[in-house]
Amino acid sequence: MKKIVVLSGAGISAESGVKTFRDSKGLWRNHRIEEVASPIAWNNNPEMVLEFYNIRRKQLFEEVKPNAAHYALAELQNNFDVKIITQNVDDLHEQAGSKNVLHLHGELKKARSTADERLVYEMKSWELNIGDKCELGSQLRPHIVWFGESVPNIEQAIEISQTADIFMVIGTSMLVYPAAGLLNYVNPDIEKYYIDPNAKNIPDIRNLKIIREKAGIALPIIAKDLKIK
Ligand code: NAD
Repeated sequence: MKKIVVLSGAGISAESGVKTFRDSKGLWRNHRIEEVASPIAWNNNPEMVLEFYNIRRKQLFEEVKPNAAHYALAELQNNFDVKIITQNVDDLHEQAGSKNVLHLHGELKKARSTADERLVYEMKSWELNIGDKCELGSQLRPHIVWFGESVPNIEQAIEISQTADIFMVIGTSMLVYPAAGLLNYVNPDIEKYYIDPNAKNIPDIRNLKIIREKAGIALPIIAKDLKIK
């Protein structure tokens, strides 16, 4: 079976109603998102950081559903070995049925211990508050890779990217590293797609098809084409 590797970003969830950082002009309540999603913010104002994620988690638990792009990728599993590397913290790929998803920037529906990062907990509801503790008695934090923190899954993402027969970049501004650098590890000879209605930071690489279209429109068409090829 041919291997399709996907790098997805916030844009693939935009049609599900999850705002990209770009949509919100990079701001939340007049704070730059980089200043909220950071270890410094957690030290200075953990209540604010928890609230930022509680709002997003509530939306994910109660409102947001996968869209046509997530479903098209899940369906490709019938004909291809599909591996998804996502920068998204939502679980919309999994909800749509994708089996092989690697989260580079963490997962919104999980919390982890501030005493031992190996203690990660699946959350049953959206709220995480001051006073919610791990089994060691330490405060829980969102299981999110904040700006300025290292990306623990990047080595695995590089290995997966190197195995691709087809590589797709979907809905990412290609500005957030190290994820944006993954294309450098992909075999230059294989077919690559970059699907983003505002594709701007176009990597200078061979065999790259740029599709300036919404993921929910473009992906079902691409998936159909790939199946009959
Ligand atoms: P970004 O906000 O920098 O870029 C999003 C990209 O999506 C833009 O280039 C935009 O043109 C494109 N886009 C918008 N609508 C689209 C659509 N319908 N179809 C296809 N593309 C569309 O996001 P990023 O590049 O993923 O990186 C920023 C960081 O934001 C990441 O670290 C990610 O973890 C985080 N983030 C995640 C979520 C989520 O989990 N859903 C949401 C917002 C931000």
